[in-house]
Amino acid sequence: MKINANYNNLAESYLFSTIAKKVEEYMVSHPEAQIIRMGIGDVTLPICEKAAEAFSRAAMEQGNAETFHGYGPEQGYDFLRDTIRDYYGGFGVKIKAEDIFISDGAKSDLGNILDLFDEDNTVLIPDPVYPVYLDTNVMAGRNIEYLDAVVSNGFLPLPEKGQKADLIYICSPNNPTGAVYNREQLKEWVDFANEQEAVILFDAAYESFILEPDLPRSIFEIEGAKTCAIEFCSLSKLASFTGTRCGYTVISDELIREGMSIRKMWLRRQTTKFNGVSYPVQRAAEAAFSPEGLEECRNHLDVYQENARVITQTLTELGIWYVGGKNSPYIWMQCPNGMKSWDFFDELLDKAHVVGTPGSGFGKNGEGFFRLSAFGTLENTREAMARMKKMWK
Ligand code: PLP
Repeated sequence: MKINANYNNLAESYLFSTIAKKVEEYMVSHPEAQIIRMGIGDVTLPICEKAAEAFSRAAMEQGNAETFHGYGPEQGYDFLRDTIRDYYGGFGVKIKAEDIFISDGAKSDLGNILDLFDEDNTVLIPDPVYPVYLDTNVMAGRNIEYLDAVVSNGFLPLPEKGQKADLIYICSPNNPTGAVYNREQLKEWVDFANEQEAVILFDAAYESFILEPDLPRSIFEIEGAKTCAIEFCSLSKLASFTGTRCGYTVISDELIREGMSIRKMWLRRQTTKFNGVSYPVQRAAEAAFSPEGLEECRNHLDVYQENARVITQTLTELGIWYVGGKNSPYIWMQCPNGMKSWDFFDELLDKAHVVGTPGSGFGKNGEGFFRLSAFGTLENTREAMARMKKMWK
């Protein structure tokens, strides 16, 4: 018997456990400190009322023989797939309901999609990065090449001449940097992928934060994307479903590689290894996409967006370089005075009692940078920024 020895190659992720340990130790030695956490990647506001009502109504249906639902379709109920198709239609993107696959979230799909691709493929992954892309490929033993996201390209790497790739990860709006690709930049990636017959794995988990109409919310806004891209999306950030769990993946029937329909392969994979998302969760998701549901979600997103505005305004006043925060809940700031990420973490904790996330935890290009998140309350965000301003005086 042999285990998958690639698991030996996974780097231990100490980022969030080290943060928690440092904060805990600090609180023991400074019990008076009023700590403000700006490192959170989870939402803090609840699911909208419409979704909560639909969720409990559907749960009650499950307790009645007349309305009970057993196994549903593995790829999701039509009522939700149609709703998501119409949501895309709302920002001008035409996709078919049968190209939408409902799941328990983007993270599972991002990991599971790799079942469809050979282990010899070369993968392009940005650095800094959402660690799931990296670890899922290390688990499969794939050859990984990094795309440098740095100040000079605004943390938005583009394809380079002579570069070769089979799978390409793009996350826009980006976690951890908050940077967002424009149409021309995404078109470069789409043309590159079509030329090379590569596949783009496009993570749109933060699409709902895009306010500027000129910025693409979906890779399918780009001509040619249907023949080279798979889109992963989620209700986690749009509708506070981080604990409720629902996401979806979109694959066009135009995406063909080596004569195989990737959409059909995914359908086969899902029908074999997945039994669908629970009926009440899908009803709650449908309600979140209703006009009233979306309005309530928008009100929540407005709170985070106002927090992001307060943060970016403060950084601008302090003359600190940053990216993100305009169409994203994340602000990626350069540590002042050339400080390293963890040194700045310690200083911010000690002087301002504010906790953020050291950029070096997301890859080598994150060294010297720091991620602030806008998922807190407005009151705490204002207080944290006032304390940061004092630090610099
Ligand atoms: N993709 C990115 C870039 C994320 O930051 C996250 C969660 O933080 C996810 C995907 C996971 O989404 P889900 O909650 O749908 O699994």
